[in-house]
Amino acid sequence: MVVKKLKPITIGELINEVRSYNPNADFDLIRKAYRLAEKAHQGQKRLSGSPVISHCLTTANLLADWKLDSASIAAGLLHDTVEDSNFTLEKIKKEVGESVAALVDGVTKVGHLKMRGSVSEEFIETLRKMFLAMSRDLRVVIIKIADRYHNMQTLQYLPADKAKGIAQETLEVYAPLAERLGIGEIKGQLEDLSFSYVYPKDYRWVKQYAASYYKKAEEQIEKVRRELLTALAHESLRVEINGRAKHFYSLWRKLLRPEINKNIEEVYDLMALRILTDRVADCYTALGVVHKLYRPVPYLGVRDWIAQPKPNGYQSIHTNVFLGDGRIIEVQIRTHQMHEQAEYGIAAHWYLAQLKLKNKLTSKSIDEGNFFSPAQKMVWVRQLATWQREIIDSHEFINSVRFDALKRRIFVFSPKGDAFDLPEGATPVDFAYAVHTDLGDKAAGAKVNGKMVTLNYCLKNGEVVEILINKNRKRPSEDWLDFVVTRLARKKIGQKINGK
Ligand code: MN
Repeated sequence: MVVKKLKPITIGELINEVRSYNPNADFDLIRKAYRLAEKAHQGQKRLSGSPVISHCLTTANLLADWKLDSASIAAGLLHDTVEDSNFTLEKIKKEVGESVAALVDGVTKVGHLKMRGSVSEEFIETLRKMFLAMSRDLRVVIIKIADRYHNMQTLQYLPADKAKGIAQETLEVYAPLAERLGIGEIKGQLEDLSFSYVYPKDYRWVKQYAASYYKKAEEQIEKVRRELLTALAHESLRVEINGRAKHFYSLWRKLLRPEINKNIEEVYDLMALRILTDRVADCYTALGVVHKLYRPVPYLGVRDWIAQPKPNGYQSIHTNVFLGDGRIIEVQIRTHQMHEQAEYGIAAHWYLAQLKLKNKLTSKSIDEGNFFSPAQKMVWVRQLATWQREIIDSHEFINSVRFDALKRRIFVFSPKGDAFDLPEGATPVDFAYAVHTDLGDKAAGAKVNGKMVTLNYCLKNGEVVEILINKNRKRPSEDWLDFVVTRLARKKIGQKINGK
């Protein structure tokens, strides 16, 4: 429920923040990126009245909070330059090098993916998928999330309909991406920041309805917290116990569930207690202590996501207990490390912390981006595969696609801006059949980014494809079978030719 307010910072403060977790960061690069961004955005102001450069600094500072590498910090500073200044990508490449330029390019490209008011589930899935695939480098997604997080905090300065559109996009695209990246805290905050813009009436209703319950729950939590601290100290367990209030938006979603039926008394995790321990074994000891003091609620059960982590890596033990007066609260138990991961679990952060603990990582290798040993890289890739599968599953027409989707697929746009994903090597004919059978059958020529191309032209990521048709054409050309790559196009062409 609590959204961290972002304060304006200076380049010196940013440098200090980076130094605190990575003394050997490439500070020259970061300073150079700053000077470049400052020049690019000279005199530019945001609608809030604050200079654009301070938005760049805030974005970069969030990335530093999440302990990203120097290239990401530099790209965070430069993320709006290509879009909003006359600086070209070439210039950025020349000044700060290829890897930072590539990140800026990625951020600029995914920035062009707009929802355009269309909110069908399928379209949103396409957008999320495209986002991941076009960015290729996950750091691009993370930079976009940082950028969006700050933009959401200054939404009140935008015209109402524009603000609503951005908030909607945040709910549909960015918050789910944050969740998939395992950044639970950011997901919750993005949702809460969007809530009042997208569903203003419900927001006011929930806020008013829940206020007294939150207050009461807070008092109870404090009492239980003290009791637990004493009991756990008796067991010589070193723990930290915090209360956490449920995010507003997620409370609202829960209230809408049929079994809850808008009755807040049925929501048991309005407030939860979080016990943070040093070691995994301590989690189970703490669970025993909790259950000795407060009886567990049998029908709600204990959920052990330490033994069996959630797909996004989340680990914690959750239990619901009776407080004695009939009330129920949720208690979450996890190690400090699991907590860090759950709140800000961006790849680098978690792996860095782990590796640092084991002294396997030098600051230098952090900065070279060698975060991952080959084995850990595998974990990361597997995780990506999970998201990819999750995202792809909801899209029926490409359910045969395997994990190579990330690398082997391209995204192209119709002249209206609709996105289509195709395998690498796809041609305008593949595109035409992906749009509509009739468009394929009648295809006579194609334009890519406004220029005529041949029908066997090899499409590239991000291109806008327009198919020119011949209305009198009855069936596709057999020759097309020599170059089409999608099963769909092959099947349709085959049917028309054989079926006559
Ligand atoms: Mn920005």
